[in-house]
Amino acid sequence: MTNNQANAQNATLAERDAKHLWHPYTQHKTAALPVGIVRGEDALLWDENGKQYIDAIASWWVNPYGHSNKFIADAVYRQLTTLEHVLFGGFTHEPAVQLSEKLIEILPTNQQKLFFSDNGSTAVEVAIKVALQYYYNKGEKRTRIIAFEDAFHGDTFAAMAASGISFFTEAFKGSLIEVTRIPVPVKGKKQESLKAMQELAAAGNYAAFIFEPLVQGAAGMVMYEPEPLNELIALCRKNGIFTIADEVMTGFGKTGKNFACNYLTEQPDMMCLSKALTGGTIPMAITTFTQQLFDGFYDDDVNKALFHGHTFTANPTACAAALAGLELLQQPDMQQNLIRINENHTRFKATIEHHPRVKTVRVLGVILALELLTDSKESYYGGLRNRLYNFFIDNGIIIRPVGNIIYILPPYIISDDLLANIYEKVALAIEKIV
Ligand SMILES: *Cc1c(COP(=O)(O)O)cnc(C)c1O
Repeated sequence: MTNNQANAQNATLAERDAKHLWHPYTQHKTAALPVGIVRGEDALLWDENGKQYIDAIASWWVNPYGHSNKFIADAVYRQLTTLEHVLFGGFTHEPAVQLSEKLIEILPTNQQKLFFSDNGSTAVEVAIKVALQYYYNKGEKRTRIIAFEDAFHGDTFAAMAASGISFFTEAFKGSLIEVTRIPVPVKGKKQESLKAMQELAAAGNYAAFIFEPLVQGAAGMVMYEPEPLNELIALCRKNGIFTIADEVMTGFGKTGKNFACNYLTEQPDMMCLSKALTGGTIPMAITTFTQQLFDGFYDDDVNKALFHGHTFTANPTACAAALAGLELLQQPDMQQNLIRINENHTRFKATIEHHPRVKTVRVLGVILALELLTDSKESYYGGLRNRLYNFFIDNGIIIRPVGNIIYILPPYIISDDLLANIYEKVALAIEKIV
């Protein structure tokens, strides 16, 4: 045995991690060591010391059907041992074709073409590039994008430009495409939002409007009604501005319907899907388009094609996981889970929303967000957030508050008992942590 191997045997996962690994959204100088997780089952995870955690946020909103899901694992194993990967340039395969057929069945009826990539950010990059190149191909000068304040669309450059949470993007300000922000049409801001859009739409140089439909996840599960979004989309349509529904977070049941767009009467021109797409197992994303957008690239001139691709585009194994996930989502039991969690959330909301330390509680589908009353504006990764986060971790619950907002977005298969445990700890945190 070498010295390294001997050291590795005595050190914890967290200590070995600290030697060479760099974590997302982490200031390593001040952050605690990460928790070393060794196993997951349904809504539970276990760390290297045997401590149990309830995954109350579905591991960043990706895992609807439970950790280490056997049904998905079997489908992935069958695919890995049949055809694990093949290039998608000039080739195709059954899992990708079948997935396109199944998705088209449940997507808004105007969505006709699917483009694969690797994650939520790339799904957004593709959507923005398609909007810009559509007009480039037509010889029309539309180079700007419209997005909501406090939006989050990912961390690559175009996605970052569209994102409005400033400390995520501050260092790159000079290098981003031009994006104009409008207010989110939350209660009391609807007119302001519509008026801002009316002014921009008249300007004629915008290619697209990108939005998180009904729920802005990273902003702290900020929610708004379908009706003003219908009006914004209609305004865009009238003025040649393509609409991009970023359903990376909201897709596949989170809002109680397959997609948040199912609450709308207007349909977006493009949709971005990832996160729960593969049941939280393998990274993959899809951007979906109307026929009109596809036709804007369909030409005898090769230069009008979409020159975008990723090495692992439409990886068959990821497609097999997505197909298994879709099958699970559509089972009556799983649909019943969406209703059951929403009912639990609604009951908890009623017990807690009048608490003197609670400003407001929002519920949509399986998402519950509780905003604490604070004297000062709490920063995203500030002190209150850290005290809450540590309290929940100590109590065996994975919740990542955003500033003064505590949210729950559990795997759909979570039991009523585990949900009750989460609510109890949230109520306790409200009493104890200020
Ligand atoms: C998470 C998220 C993204 C980015 O997805 P990644 O897979 O992290 O790149 C984009 N848009 C929304 C709405 C998201 O929630």
